[in-house]
Amino acid sequence: MPFYDYECKECDTTFTRQESFEEHERRRNLKCPECGSRKTRQLVSAAFVQTSKKS
Ligand SMILES: [Zn+2]
Repeated sequence: MPFYDYECKECDTTFTRQESFEEHERRRNLKCPECGSRKTRQLVSAAFVQTSKKS
């Protein structure tokens, strides 16, 4: 199963979850494990970040 990184907008906590694709599709807004807020967003995985522009 793939791993997904998330960031909480309330407390800036980042956390990683392992989810199946099916589970990930169903679960849009995860609860932050630190403060319980649902204002979380998924972070782009490191593999994608590496393709950022070089100047
Ligand atoms: Zn939080």
